[in-house]
Amino acid sequence: MIQERWTAVDRYITDLLVPSDPALDATLQASAAAGLPPINVSPAQGKLLHLLARAQGARTILEIGTLGGYSTIWLARALPADGRLITLEADPKHAEVARANIARAGLADVVEVRLGRALDTLPRLAAEGHGPFDLIFIDADKPSNPDYFAWALKLSHPGSLIITDNVVRDGAVIDADSDDHRVQGTRRFFELLAAEPRVSATAIQTVGDKGYDGFAIALVTGDQ
Ligand code: SAM
Repeated sequence: MIQERWTAVDRYITDLLVPSDPALDATLQASAAAGLPPINVSPAQGKLLHLLARAQGARTILEIGTLGGYSTIWLARALPADGRLITLEADPKHAEVARANIARAGLADVVEVRLGRALDTLPRLAAEGHGPFDLIFIDADKPSNPDYFAWALKLSHPGSLIITDNVVRDGAVIDADSDDHRVQGTRRFFELLAAEPRVSATAIQTVGDKGYDGFAIALVTGDQ
C-alpha cells in the first residue's frame, strides 16, 4: 500500500513537472529490451540531478556507474555546448547500450563512456590529467563507495558537488551489524563524509517509484 502510494505520487509529480521526453523514454525502453536491470534513477530524480548541475553551472561532470545512460543523459543535458561528461561502467553490455542511448540523445560528442572497473579507470583518468570535475555522481557498486568518495575528492575543486545515490537502503543504513557489504560500504562512506573537513554534506531520505532510499550531497569547500 505504501509503495503503491509512493509510486502514484511519483507519477503525479512526473506527469506535471517532468514531461515525457523521446530520448529519455527510448533510453529506458532500449535498456529494458536489452535486459538491463531497472536500477536507473527515476525521472524525478534524474531531473533533480539535472537541476543541481544547472544551478551549479557545471561544465565538467564525472559519473561512476552508467547502466544504460539514463542519469548520464539527464546530467549531460545540463552542460553548456563545450561541456564534457565522463561516465564509468564495468559491464560491457551496459556500456554498449549506454553508448547507443547517448548517441540517440545527440550527446555522443559530449559524453565519453569508459569501460572498466571504476577503481581501475579512475587512476587512469587522473593520470591522463582529467579533472577537476564540477560535479561527480557516484552510483555504482556500493561497497566501493568509500573509495569512490576518496577519488571524487581527488578529482574535485572547492565548489564541486559530490552526489551519491542509494545511501539509505530501505533504512538498513542504521544497522551497524548488517552483513550486507553494500550497507557496510555506505556506513563507511558516511563516516568518511562526517570526518572530512574539506566538505560540507547532508543526506536526504527519498521515497517514490524506486522505493525507500536516499541521496548524499557533499559540497567541496576546501576548508581545512
Ligand atoms: N546511474 C545509472 C542511472 O541512474 O541511470 C544507474 C547505475 S546502476 C545503479 C550501477 C551501474 O554500475 C551498473 O551498470 C553496474 O554495471 C555498474 N558497476 C558496478 N560495479 C562497477 C564498477 N566496479 N565499476 C564501474 N561500474 C560498475
